[in-house]
Amino acid sequence: MHKSKEDVAELFHQHFNTPAQSTPVELTNFVREKLREQYQEAGAGITGANFLIAENGNIALTENEGNGVMSTSFPKTHIVIAGIEKIIPSMKDLGFIWPILAGHGTGQKISAYNTIFTGPKRRGEEDGPEKQFIILIDNERSSMLDTNEHWQALKCIRCGACLNACPIYKVVGGYTYNTVYSGPIGSVITPFMKNFAEFGHLSTACTQCGKCEEVCPVMIPLPRLLLLNRKLTNENGGNDWRWGTGMKFFEYISSNRKRMDVTQGSLKNSAVSLTGKNLMGKNKSMPTFEELSFSRQWKIKSKNG
Ligand code: SF4
Repeated sequence: MHKSKEDVAELFHQHFNTPAQSTPVELTNFVREKLREQYQEAGAGITGANFLIAENGNIALTENEGNGVMSTSFPKTHIVIAGIEKIIPSMKDLGFIWPILAGHGTGQKISAYNTIFTGPKRRGEEDGPEKQFIILIDNERSSMLDTNEHWQALKCIRCGACLNACPIYKVVGGYTYNTVYSGPIGSVITPFMKNFAEFGHLSTACTQCGKCEEVCPVMIPLPRLLLLNRKLTNENGGNDWRWGTGMKFFEYISSNRKRMDVTQGSLKNSAVSLTGKNLMGKNKSMPTFEELSFSRQWKIKSKNG
């Protein structure tokens, strides 16, 4: 997602000495051969779970690559690590929710590999792991369930549609968030799982355009939750006096057209460089402001026809 096919070919060339101009098909065949040995020798395979079915204890895994099936077919032990919000009531719910996940995740009717694990292999069965362990992670999910509104974020099925729709995510990319879960849903839940002081600021990147809520298949009110996160960030020590002073200054400048036009690109660029760090994170370069504001550029353009 973050690298072009040429970047990937170069990376493989550096690490595995494959030809620098390898095509995606050639690289896939190389990986297939290399990883197969490792799958065959592994003592344990670790997977997540897309859903855990409460009525029968089954584990539902959906994927397009086949690495999940390989991780569970060869090793003698299968370890499943999943958040508690992955538990759904019944198989009937799975039939409803699986196509929604595929459709909103990758635009497919159904993903390529869909596996339902019913436990370790039974006596007489040839294939499958001999032991299976399920580790359920809470990590503040229960606290979210206790809130008036943020409990709705636990409905997320991790389809990724809100990420693809978000204009901020499209520009900054996933690494800039510096979190496991990125994009709109990541900005909502990460401060709960980590802390508001360090991760509350993610909600301030939101423009409140509403695209994320529009595409979310389970109708999580993401813009509203992001607004609430800003409030919680203030209440939980995420913003110090510099933020307050900066916002007051911004309000003063941006509430008047003439003042906005006075602050030209060079001034804005100097103000940003005063922070002494790349606000886009180490994997992106910081874009520079245009010298003239949009309003002034528009005036000049209209005047010149
Ligand atoms: S919040 Fe909605 S759109 Fe975003 S990943 Fe979760 S289910 Fe998909």
